[in-house]
Amino acid sequence: MKCVICKHGETKPGIMTASFDHNGATIIIRGVPAEVCQTCGENYLTEDVSTKLLSQVRDAARNGVQIDVRQYLAA
Ligand SMILES: [Zn+2]
Repeated sequence: MKCVICKHGETKPGIMTASFDHNGATIIIRGVPAEVCQTCGENYLTEDVSTKLLSQVRDAARNGVQIDVRQYLAA
């Protein structure tokens, strides 16, 4: 698909690292499948992936950690 940020680049499937600030905790999730713009590097997540990411972020933050780095779980 065409990138909406730079309006020139084409996106290709790739892997990104997502980081979130959630209630004062920093949650970093690696290995997230995303469409990545070949020109500006903008990442696009599918709705399915965002939903799973969010639940994994909540899950990590629930443990009361300040910083958590984990691998994305597709299941
Ligand atoms: Zn772009």
